[in-house]
This record gives sequence, C-alpha cells and structure tokens, in this order.
Amino acid sequence: MTYQRRQTHPVTVGDDRVGRITIGGDGPVSVQSMTSGYTHDVDGCLAEIEKLAAAGADIVRVAVPERKDTEALREIMKATPVPIVADVHFHYKRALEAVEAGVHKIRLNPGNINDRDQVNAVIDACKEAGIPIRVGVNEGSIIERKDKQKRQEELGAYFEGHRSGHLLAIMIAKLEEYLDIFTARDFHDIVISAKSMDARLVIDAYTEISKRFDHPLHLGVTHAGTRETGSIRSIAALGTLLANGIGDTIRISYASDPVYEVEDGVELLCSLDLRTRKGIELIACPTCGRIQVDLFTLVDEVQKTLRTEIELPIKVAVMGCIVNGPGEAEGADVAVFAGDRRGIIYVQGEKVANVPEDEILARLLAECRAFEAKVRAGEATLGQKVVDIVPPDPIGDLGSGVERIKSGLVESITVEGRST
Ligand code: SF4
Repeated sequence: MTYQRRQTHPVTVGDDRVGRITIGGDGPVSVQSMTSGYTHDVDGCLAEIEKLAAAGADIVRVAVPERKDTEALREIMKATPVPIVADVHFHYKRALEAVEAGVHKIRLNPGNINDRDQVNAVIDACKEAGIPIRVGVNEGSIIERKDKQKRQEELGAYFEGHRSGHLLAIMIAKLEEYLDIFTARDFHDIVISAKSMDARLVIDAYTEISKRFDHPLHLGVTHAGTRETGSIRSIAALGTLLANGIGDTIRISYASDPVYEVEDGVELLCSLDLRTRKGIELIACPTCGRIQVDLFTLVDEVQKTLRTEIELPIKVAVMGCIVNGPGEAEGADVAVFAGDRRGIIYVQGEKVANVPEDEILARLLAECRAFEAKVRAGEATLGQKVVDIVPPDPIGDLGSGVERIKSGLVESITVEGRST
C-alpha cells in the first residue's frame, strides 16, 4: 500500500516564542491533547501543559468555560512551551476574550454556538489576530434528540449502507451549513473535526468530509473510554484514516491522564512512519511454552528505564528464546535472547555476553547505554549490523514457495505492482 497524503489548505498555529506548527499541507501530522484541570489554576494548568509537551504533544487545548479561565490565559500564554487552543462552548464571548489573551487557535462547536452574528464576531476577531478556527462537530452535541425518529427516517437514506447513515448526514449537513458562514466572511484558516465514540462512524465521517472540503482534519474518537478500551477504538479509527492519507492532526482521548493520550498518539504516528521516533523502539516477544525466564518483568523494566534515559531511536529486542527470537528481532541494534535461565546479548548482531537471569537487566541496560554513546561518538550507526545472527531457515524443507507458484498452485503473485 502506498501512502498518499490528502492535499489540504494548511493553517499555522503558534508564534515566535513557542514556534509554529503547520496543520495540513506539508506539515507533519501533529499530536494534540487537552488539559484535564481548571484553566484558571494557572500554575496547575501550566504544569499540565509542560507534562504534555514533554510527552510529545505539539499543541495543547484548554477549556475556557468561564471568564476567569480566559483571564488566566493571559498568564498561560506567556509561559506555555507549545501552541495553545482555547476550547469554546456555549459562550462566544469566551472566544473573543481568548483571542484577546493571545491564544493560537479557537475551537468552536456548531452544536452550541450557532448564532450567525456571534459566529461572525469570532471569525472577525480571529481574522484580525491571524489565528485559525477549528470547527468541531461532535456527534453527541449536534443530534436533535427530540426528532430522533423523524431524523433517522428523513436522513437515513442519504448514506444507505452505512451503519449510522442519518448521523453521518446530520454531521455533514451541519458542517456545510456552518462553513457557509465562514465562506461568506472570506475566512479560510479552518480545521475540521467530526468526532464520535463510534469508530466506524468516525472513519465514515472523515472519509466523506475529506471528499468535500480541502481543510485540514483534526482526527479523534471522542469519549473513547479508558485507555484499555479507548486505545483500541481510537487506533482502529485513526490508524485506518491515517493509513489512507486522511488526517493532519490527532487527539486521542481517554478517561485517564492525558499524558497517555499523547504517548499513544506519538506511538501511532511512529508506527505508521509519520513521525521520527525519539528514544528506544522496543521489540518484545509475547512469550510461549519455550520461555524460561520472567520476560514480562524484564520487558517492563527495560521499557521503564530506557524510555527516559535513551534519546536516540535505538531498536531493542527482548526475546524469549533463541529458536524464533533472532528472526523476530531482525533489525534490532541491541537484543537479548533468553532461555535456560540465562540471556544471550547481542549488539549489532554480535554476541557480547551470556549472563544468568538475574544479571540480564543490568547488562542489557549497560549495553544500550554504551551503544548510544558509541553512536553519538560516530563509532556505530543505528540499524547497521556488524554480524548477522543467522536465524533458523523459516521456510526449511517446505521450500521457498517458488515451486508452488511454478506448479500452478498459486496462479500469480504481485509484489509492488510487479506480477510473476
Ligand atoms: S521468541 Fe521464543 S519464547 Fe518468544 S514467542 Fe517466539 S518462540 Fe516463544
């Protein structure tokens, strides 16, 4: 599958002090999160923003439900390390105050700020300040509950075959109607989001929106639940969209510490090769009946210790045995293969130690630190093996498959558009 990013009209958030993030266009897909504490608690809010930024957040959103929150924004804007978005619901005046406080972007919800004059006032303020607006149509806030049945009947036909066709129709109709106000005002620095807690509706909504508008898209599954279930729901939706080139900035949301949202968002982008990894990439086997050491504890310790210590994207493999381990750890810079209460440690494919189980962790950590120092000193290169660990032939007596193709059992095989 070739990755082709959808072309969008880019918008910029930030300033000279915090730097500028481009959303859309050629800007890399960014990661966002939202603070969970009160914005009017300036110190607490800034501490949270700093934590999120340290975890890899490019942009942070804060809620401004009251005037004391927009007042606090003035102080927050002086010290934040990353661009700040003010999340505005119900009170358009909060948006005006946030713009005055110097915020980098406004988020409006068409479900609760829908007076044309009020929207125009916010558009004019943002235009003058040169900042973009995200229009976020959350499924939950746009449903007209009193006419639900009627709506389903009227609108369901528009997206027949989609599980929630009527919701999709409402979200798109609401968005089109709302964006008409912006077009009439000649305002184009817009980011769109269309979140739902239903992963399939999220995929459908963003896919349809991507066909209709060239504004950058802020992806998210809202009210996804705890990290345990929310991560699966979010990655299913966001991963599908991003792999198809749809999405310019993402926010994963959990009913949990928002730092996890950032960590998982960053990991998602790294997994899809949309962000360069900072720090170790851990490869670990799931273990099976061949395991003879406490691998889960070992993996946890390695992850915990090296996450904060190692800055270079070193691939570290922690494998349960030497039978399948080498094949599965292919490409690792530092690897340990455990078995028989011992661990054999390799650096760049070269065996450097064979230690008892209780010494594996310390030795592995030492080898990782030493390897990072060598890379920094220009004495080693990431991803370059000095010696090949020869894994058992994965095909073995069964043959390579070519004979099978030749004999007509498999009619054709296609590799990167090449047919055999
Ligand atoms: S590496 Fe070895 S222990 Fe781990 S899952 Fe594979 S075969 Fe099992």
